[in-house]
Amino acid sequence: MKTARIGERAAQLLSLEGKVAIVTGAGSGIGREVSIRLGEMGASVVILDTDAEAARETAGRIKPLGVGALAIACDVTSRSACERAIEQSVATYGRVDILCNNAGIVVRKDVLSLAESEWDSVLAVTLKSVYLLSHEVIPHMVRNGSGTIINTGSGWSLKGGRRAAAYCAAKGGVLNLTRAMAIDHGPQNIRVNCVCPGDIDTPMLTGECQQLGEDPNQFMAEASNRPLGRVGNTGDVADAVLFLASDMSKWVTGVALIVDGGGWHDLRNTILKVWENSDGTV
Ligand code: NAD
Repeated sequence: MKTARIGERAAQLLSLEGKVAIVTGAGSGIGREVSIRLGEMGASVVILDTDAEAARETAGRIKPLGVGALAIACDVTSRSACERAIEQSVATYGRVDILCNNAGIVVRKDVLSLAESEWDSVLAVTLKSVYLLSHEVIPHMVRNGSGTIINTGSGWSLKGGRRAAAYCAAKGGVLNLTRAMAIDHGPQNIRVNCVCPGDIDTPMLTGECQQLGEDPNQFMAEASNRPLGRVGNTGDVADAVLFLASDMSKWVTGVALIVDGGGWHDLRNTILKVWENSDGTV
């Protein structure tokens, strides 16, 4: 009986019934899974991606759940495209309760090999888009009297990584922008949090292995070398985003929720990796 009551309360807190969520980069990987999870919990979902067909495919996975799903082709680096997308979302569903700033791209290069255009595009997709969309969405949340924004950071929001200079700069920025927005918009009852995934099995991770020219088996074995012994899956991140999107986290704002199977805390591993010689000695 007690357990049933607790279950009922948990279900109430996690329910997104009647809410409207916007998810960027939702045509693939983490963004797609987050969109589906929010739909499963009752939210209508607006799916933004440059890849219109992929966005439509995500919408097609959500519609059978009996909630709204609207796919919009949108380049999140363009102010006018973001303005149009939010206008269309509000015209369709009347409100915005949840914004997941998830789109991001990675170029695995150090500053010496990185072209200025690569720096600009990584920063634009991964960091500037958080500003552009929040700028459009927050006035609607203020009008509703509440809202929750979840930005996708990375383990590399908290520490540096090898041959990923622009990405690390952008993801560090995403986390500190999250903290700044949490301070500014808390008084308007808008919570702003950052989910920080470790290596997650998506097309981005495969692409990184290709960019680095590494053997895929060895790359995945190294990525699995963490306390929980595997790379993450998109569902691991979607569950954490659901927590931050729902009333289950109603007094949580400005945090970095690390979802990485313990990789960040495994400092010994990190330090050894940095200092290890090619023959394996330290
Ligand atoms: P993914 O490559 O599978 O999906 C990214 C999606 O973003 C794609 O559908 C792509 O079309 C879209 N996109 C790219 N540029 C866009 C733009 N300008 N406007 C709109 N959409 C755009 O990647 P993923 O692994 O699902 O990554 C999602 C987020 O998670 C990113 O912010 C990424 O940095 C972060 N992340 C991923 C990992 C990982 O290991 N996969 C780890 C930590 C953080």
